Amino acid sequence: MFCLMANCCSWFKRWREPVRKVTLVMVGLDNAGKTATAKGIQGEHPEDVAPTVGFSKIDLRQGKFEVTIFDLGGGKRIRGIWKNYYAESYGVIFVVDSSDEERMEETKETMSEVLRHPRISGKPVLVLANKQDKEGALGEADVIECLSLEKLVNEHKCLCQIEPCSAVLGYGKKIDKSIKKGLYWLLHNIARDFDTLNERIQKDTTEQRALEEQEKRERAERVRKLREEREQREREQSDGTSVTANNEKNLEKEKKKQTMEKESDGCPLKHKMEHEQIQTENQTGDSSQKHSELEIVENYKEALTQQLENEDETDHRSSESDNSKKKTKKLRMKRSHRVEPVNTDDSAPKSPTPPPPPPPVGWGTPKVTRLPKLEPLGETRHNDFYGKPLPPLTVRQRPNGDAHDVIS
Ligand code: GDP
Repeated sequence: MFCLMANCCSWFKRWREPVRKVTLVMVGLDNAGKTATAKGIQGEHPEDVAPTVGFSKIDLRQGKFEVTIFDLGGGKRIRGIWKNYYAESYGVIFVVDSSDEERMEETKETMSEVLRHPRISGKPVLVLANKQDKEGALGEADVIECLSLEKLVNEHKCLCQIEPCSAVLGYGKKIDKSIKKGLYWLLHNIARDFDTLNERIQKDTTEQRALEEQEKRERAERVRKLREEREQREREQSDGTSVTANNEKNLEKEKKKQTMEKESDGCPLKHKMEHEQIQTENQTGDSSQKHSELEIVENYKEALTQQLENEDETDHRSSESDNSKKKTKKLRMKRSHRVEPVNTDDSAPKSPTPPPPPPPVGWGTPKVTRLPKLEPLGETRHNDFYGKPLPPLTVRQRPNGDAHDVIS
């Protein structure tokens, strides 16, 4: 009766216990049987498991515990991530391939590294001496010896239990009893010291998160700096490219210019005429006769404009002299590539005394006589000029009138 009462009390006590969330890390060398063990605990067939890449997470309910097991990849290069899970771990499951004597030393070193970590030292450790079903597998005592387990756990004040087992023998309820036993032992010890462990874990995880945040910020800053540097380099490269392209263009232009000048040596006027022809050809694509006609008309226009400018200077010297100069400048700039008459009036005296009245503009003017004789241009073109004397100055168009635009 007394026994029954005690059992009832114990059951009631456990029933009242809050559900505890516990996280465990499952570590060990690659191929030790971690995933097979985890699958077996979870109730899945432990055979034909793919090697863990990174980590996998298992959730299970064990009595009053909600257990999360992080099955972490055991490859040499991936072991560095283990420490990221230590802070939140209440205990460790270390899986050893008992059949692989050659890797015992590596296993020992790895285990030593785990236990010595400040976020693991002092926490309960379950060692599963796995693959006991395999021939020649080391027994419990041999594994303890090979790993110098006693020394290790004492050094790092870890409660330790070793269980020889085989992960592939069964799964779920039929899982190897040693694995089940080992898991109970671990959870029992965690429960015994839960408050202390929990406090430590809260503190460690807060610190770890702060550290992770800081690392994240530092990483983001590094990435930002690298990006800025890369963009700066790209900008500099593209600037360099455009400068080089500009230089090459300028060089080409200069070469063209020099070639033209060489060709024109001794015959500048001819060159200029040819040059103009080339330009006209490029622009219009007309026949050579049309070019020469255009040249003649252009030359004529030039002479006419010059004449008009002179007159303007005379007529409006007092009030419009500035304006007239601007127009003249504009006209000359526009025609800088055109053929200039040999004796231009550029050097005409700009004395305040009015120059003698200009000769009537027409075929007899000095400029026009120097131009090639005008030939019929055809009825459809230049009707205003063909076969007619120029209109007297009094009815001519002023340079800044509407007809000015036609000339230029
Ligand atoms: P992990 O890299 O530690 O996760 O190892 P795995 O769980 O992937 O197992 C590696 C290989 O060992 C797989 O082929 C498993 O089937 C096999 N294995 C795992 N546990 C045992 C075991 O207890 N006995 C035998 N014979 N093979 C096992």
